[in-house]
Parts: sequence; structure tokens; C-alpha cells
Amino acid sequence: MNPSTPLAFCLSPLDRAEDIRRNADRLAELQTAEGATAIPFRRADPVIGDNGRLARWPMGKALTLKQVDTPILLGLENGEPLYAVDVDPDAEAEGADFTDTRTAAMQLPIEETGILAQARSLIEWRRKNRFCSNCGTLTTELEAGRKRLCMSCGTEHFPRVDPVAIMLVVKDDWCLLGRQSSWPPRMWSALAGFMEPGETIAQAAAREVWEEAGLQCDPASAELIADQPWPFASSLMLAVIIEAITVDIKVDTHEIESARWFSREEIHDMLSGQHPEADVPPSIAIARRLLEVWVSR
Ligand SMILES: [Zn+2]
Repeated sequence: MNPSTPLAFCLSPLDRAEDIRRNADRLAELQTAEGATAIPFRRADPVIGDNGRLARWPMGKALTLKQVDTPILLGLENGEPLYAVDVDPDAEAEGADFTDTRTAAMQLPIEETGILAQARSLIEWRRKNRFCSNCGTLTTELEAGRKRLCMSCGTEHFPRVDPVAIMLVVKDDWCLLGRQSSWPPRMWSALAGFMEPGETIAQAAAREVWEEAGLQCDPASAELIADQPWPFASSLMLAVIIEAITVDIKVDTHEIESARWFSREEIHDMLSGQHPEADVPPSIAIARRLLEVWVSR
């Protein structure tokens, strides 16, 4: 694959309608507008329509399904409002065939995956953040799902995004990959971990490599290659290539099952499915992009 091809979840055609979100009257009009449509989700998984895109149902039809909560405005699509509706997981949903989000992301046109990422993350955020984290009061939804307000203490709550550093550690013509015991056999990928408060991306990358594999890296060598929203539940993947200073691996088995160095030739074979005993993640994963960029250098 061409390393400049957009990654899954990275493109969206929607106008997020910032101006309309702040206008309660306009929001009320939008939801009953003739052209309003909604994508049904259940447990944050979508429906794929016969045209291979995310199903867009007329708002009237979408509202016949029992909802967990009110529709979430995703934005304007060609000037018409587009919503996500969170269908009650215990209710009958006739006509709705829900598809696992990872499977959907591999099947949908790239422009649809950005909509999927936004909708899924907003639905999950709302499900887990109904109560004020400052005082515990049930909060009120504002701006059609983009914000919540605590009427008791006045705290505003916005959808969270969790930055994750994912790093390809390199040393000359070798790179380090790890695997977790829960992964399919043969699968190897770049090390990754949540950033901590007060860290730069480079510092987080170097720390994670040290914690998981016992290798020292040079933070000054960290190069940001790509980023990607990853809606499980709401991460932002920050993909870097970073150079190792040391080569001896000491795995922390609380974090990963194993780690090892792979040669450039091996990575080439893994990307083309020719390696006898190791695979790399599918094309929706930014780890694969890191490997594609590195071997193309
Ligand atoms: Zn509060």
C-alpha cells in the first residue's frame, strides 16, 4: 500500500456545524427537518446499507427503534443533518443488521470510517459519562450530544480523547515488535501505551519502550509519522519511529507476552504475507503504516 493513502477513521465529509450546535432553537428545527437522517448503532456498532455505506435512515424511521438516549448530531452532510441513534440493545430492531465496528471499518469506503469513529466515540463517551465527575450529579446533555453540563456545580464536560503513543523502535536495519498473549497466533505489532499527564509524545514513547521491553531509546530521535482516531473507545493514536540506544530486550510480562527484533527483510515478507511464522496487523491499524513507512525508506 502507498504510505500516503489515508488510514481508516481519518477522513470524514461532515461539516460538524459548530455554529448550529450553540443554537437550541435551530437544533430543534434540524431534528425534524425533512432531509434529516440517522445512522443506527447498537452497542456502538453500525448498520451497513445495501450500497456498502453506513445505513442512513430517515429520522422518522430511525426514531421507531427504541433509543438508549436522544439522537446525537454528527454534523451536516451535503447541507442535511446527520445523526447517530443509539438503539436499545435489549429492544427488537427490525430491519437493522448490526456489524462489528472493526469489520465495518475494513469494508466501508474510507470517507465513511471517519463518521463511524466520531459516532462510536460519542456514543461510548455518553454511556460512560452521565454523571458529573466533580460532584456526582446526573448531567444534562447540550449541543445535541457534544457537551454535558452539571446543573448542580456548573462543571462542563466534553467528550474525551485519550492519546496513545505507538512506536516502532528501530536500530540500523532492525525494528522491534511485540505481541500480547490475547492476540491471534503469529501476530506481531508495534509497542504502544497511553500517554501520561505532563509528557511529550517522544517522552511517552521512550518510557513505554523502557517499561515494556527494557530498551533505552533516544527521545530526541522520535519522529511523528501519522496519527489516527481509534474509536475503541476514544483514543488518538500517535505513531512515531524512535531509535534505540540499547539492544538487549527485557520484557515486562505484565505488559506484553514477548518482544523481538525483526530485520527489514522480514518486515517486507510480513507485509506481503510471505513470512513463515509472523504476521503484521491489518491495513486499518496504524502499526502497519509505521512498518510500511519504515521499509520504504
Ligand atoms: Zn457537578
